[in-house]
Amino acid sequence: MDNHDLAAWDAGHVWHAFTQMQEYDPLLIERGQGATLFDTDGNRYIDGSSSLWCNVHGHCHPRLNQALIEQLGRVAHTTNLGLSNPTTTRFAKRLIEAAPAGLERVFFSSDGSSAIEAALKLAFQFWRQCGDPQPSRTKFIAIDEAYHGDTLGATGVGGVPRFGSLFASLTFDAIRIPTPCVRRPLEGSPRLAEASQNTSLEHLENILKRQSHEIAAMIMEPLVQAAAGILVHPPGFLRAVRELTQQYDVLLIADEVAVGFGRTGTLFACQQERVSPDFLCLAKGITGGYLPMAATLTTPRVWNAFLGTHAEKRTFLHGHTYGGNPLAAAVGLESLALFDDQRVLECLPPKIARLRDHIARIATIEHVGDVRQCGMMVGIELVADKARGRSYSWEEKRGMRACLAARKHGALLRPLGDVVVLMPPLCITLDEIDCLAGAAEAGIREATQSLR
Ligand SMILES: *Cc1c(COP(=O)(O)O)cnc(C)c1O
Repeated sequence: MDNHDLAAWDAGHVWHAFTQMQEYDPLLIERGQGATLFDTDGNRYIDGSSSLWCNVHGHCHPRLNQALIEQLGRVAHTTNLGLSNPTTTRFAKRLIEAAPAGLERVFFSSDGSSAIEAALKLAFQFWRQCGDPQPSRTKFIAIDEAYHGDTLGATGVGGVPRFGSLFASLTFDAIRIPTPCVRRPLEGSPRLAEASQNTSLEHLENILKRQSHEIAAMIMEPLVQAAAGILVHPPGFLRAVRELTQQYDVLLIADEVAVGFGRTGTLFACQQERVSPDFLCLAKGITGGYLPMAATLTTPRVWNAFLGTHAEKRTFLHGHTYGGNPLAAAVGLESLALFDDQRVLECLPPKIARLRDHIARIATIEHVGDVRQCGMMVGIELVADKARGRSYSWEEKRGMRACLAARKHGALLRPLGDVVVLMPPLCITLDEIDCLAGAAEAGIREATQSLR
């Protein structure tokens, strides 16, 4: 098959995630180097979405490649059901050393949704078998417009209507609190942000006061609700949630699948508010964007509740075939070494500032209603009418159009509704940030100027 045949076959047979296949216009990416991807026709693009929020140090990184090759020479996969592998054990130790204090145990799986499922089930089972059992604690609190993955448990705690509502009857109901974010244009004044944060916290406190005896855990994305459209929480919100949940002894699940591994400027988002959750869910960036891998970290308190003899039936009867895969662990280990050796986090502030400069300019475009940023995560919201704060109707697909238009200018982007997202690999250079922002701006102008 030549490239043309491959593209046609792909469009007819390969069911792409979150993609209307009838409208799918095939694009085959053949190779990558650093923050750049090349398609089968040799066109180059800045990887503006880090290949869906997971690439960290760039594509085809010599050290990550080498770590993978070395592990391949030993063994590609052995199960972690009842036994282990030195590479996976070393990786587990490094993860725990890097994580917020208190998270000293780790359960491996293969994707973000699975990391969430494990946390939900661990929290649920914990209350049945902890020292002072409280089997009435079966419910979960989640934030409106949260996204925690696509498996049924994760969909239950998720709240992005465009992803979840169809399957509502298949999932369990979470108790919801409003998001503390102000997202609509014109609502961005600091006073409103404060009011919105207080409303959200009041809701939470009322629920906890009334029914904490029924609640197993609260789940949240720390600092940024990514899939909701890069909704950045006001400073202090995470800290306040941690204090409230601690006060009512409700477990806190931090979903750092999107925000982990440097995306917000620190290795983990929780570290910015000196928060240690009871569960830390990691995936996307965990192998630097190389291989599927996920981890659910938790505390000795949770772990201890599962100890006992076989006959006591306290075992966590849950797992995934490829959990803790040694190839993924080898790359994950090397990725953490790169964070240290190349001072990746120390190099971020000028890049974050450069992104901030660009979006300040982009914010003045007629149909850009709001720009939001947390570290290396940026959301640019397109609106029909900025003055009146009126959105485009969803059928117009303005966000998707802007991203497709940006391709012609050398950037691969993926929108969230009408929010154009910039989330490049952390290794991106200042010059590449300029190209990325330029392409996004051109795409946004094209998609919003025409077709009024
Ligand atoms: C992507 C994502 C998930 C799901 O991860 P998958 O690997 O796609 O299953 C869960 N939570 C958040 C915050 C995410 O961004």
